[in-house]
Amino acid sequence: MQTNFTLAQLADPETARSEHILRKCVHCGFCTATCPTFVLLGDERDSPRGRIYLIKAMLEGDRAPTQQEVRHVDRCLSCLSCMTTCPSGVDYMHLVDHGRHRIEESYDRPLSDRLMRGLLAWLMPRPALFRWAMMLGRLAKPLAPVLPATSPDPGGATFLRRLRAMLDAVPARLHGPSPVDRPQTFPAKGLRRKRVALMPGCGQQVLAPEVNEATVRLLNRHDVEVVNVASSGCCGSSVLHLGRTEQAIELAKRNIEAWQREIDGAGLDAIVINASGCGTTVKDYGNMLAAEPEWQERAQQVARLARDVTEVLAEIGLVDVTPRPLTVAYHSACSMQHGQKLTELPKKLLREAGFVVKDVPEGHLCCGWAGTYQVLQPELSRRLRDRKVGNIERTNPDVIAAGNFGCIGNIAAGTGIPIAHTVELLDWATGGPMPQAFRGQHAGAAAVAEA
Ligand code: SF4
Ligand code: SF4
Repeated sequence: MQTNFTLAQLADPETARSEHILRKCVHCGFCTATCPTFVLLGDERDSPRGRIYLIKAMLEGDRAPTQQEVRHVDRCLSCLSCMTTCPSGVDYMHLVDHGRHRIEESYDRPLSDRLMRGLLAWLMPRPALFRWAMMLGRLAKPLAPVLPATSPDPGGATFLRRLRAMLDAVPARLHGPSPVDRPQTFPAKGLRRKRVALMPGCGQQVLAPEVNEATVRLLNRHDVEVVNVASSGCCGSSVLHLGRTEQAIELAKRNIEAWQREIDGAGLDAIVINASGCGTTVKDYGNMLAAEPEWQERAQQVARLARDVTEVLAEIGLVDVTPRPLTVAYHSACSMQHGQKLTELPKKLLREAGFVVKDVPEGHLCCGWAGTYQVLQPELSRRLRDRKVGNIERTNPDVIAAGNFGCIGNIAAGTGIPIAHTVELLDWATGGPMPQAFRGQHAGAAAVAEA
């Protein structure tokens, strides 16, 4: 693609990178077929190619974006399905991050939009505050039915519709803080084979604390020492996708400093991440801090050490497996398959643990969660979730597995089939407790598998 940036514009490293990305696009449009928003809306401006043109226009014009440009960029899920499809290797991820940053800096959003995005950016990286917000949300949840369930905007991007989505997202059950989510060391059960830091995350601590608990048990049982490092926390992805690049960089620096102390101290073989959205972001810390020479080396070191939990388990191999004869529909989160390119590894581990694993039709399409997207674009999010649930249910599984807590919560709200994190199933098959999803009405199937 031909570009028209001035030399002055190209002096900005972020613009220079975007120009390089834009030049790689040959307008072929292959990416449109696998873009969830184009599949739903059929509008070129809601396709990757369309958004590439919109972002190019706003960057080259060195101007504030128009309302139309913002509307269509906002509808992007950052699922990165287009990057998997693109034959030219267009780095859409960094281009849309730049577009969002430009929008955040120069577009005057309506007040209600600013308030909602500001609230999300303030709460999401802070688990303690996020937990309080969820508790307040539970009090307000009975009001949800009086708010509109539909909206004139195809994305549902209206204030009251978003407010309803926010209340709908408040879980019926809320756990207290888990003891594993405090800085400490969990020793290996036997002779130590590896020493890893576990990324504590942010929203997952509140919405699915059982995932870190299962991860610690599973790794310890496989002779891996796990450290929850003081001052490590949110990876920054939720605010990055809101265009708040500076805030995301601050969160990244905090993590890098925390893990660096551990690397320089007792040493780390890996930084283990069990939420694939966070994994995609931490693996990209080198790029996020590319413009800051004093951080570059440390950021790259952290990115090199970052591993999805399934990568570490595949390296060490599962031991003492008690097969559970259940059929698992494996939902590959976008950040797992498109962001980290981990497609077969989680399924291989589940098979090694004795599960019968089924692929989900249209597995490349997002489930609609996408971080804050489920609140900011609730109509599109819901349509994608319903489509995903329909595809999953067609495989007739006993249980659904996924490697990202957000997808788990989102899909669980649309189906009666139990859903668990991959590590919970692996933990169960190697001596851990039955996953929480099997308790209550689903206990029967799990009890048969345990017998
Ligand atoms: S990231 Fe996903 S939603 Fe956004 S343009 Fe690419 S395929 Fe479409
Ligand atoms: S597939 Fe790649 S090269 Fe083709 S239009 Fe999409 S982004 Fe551009």
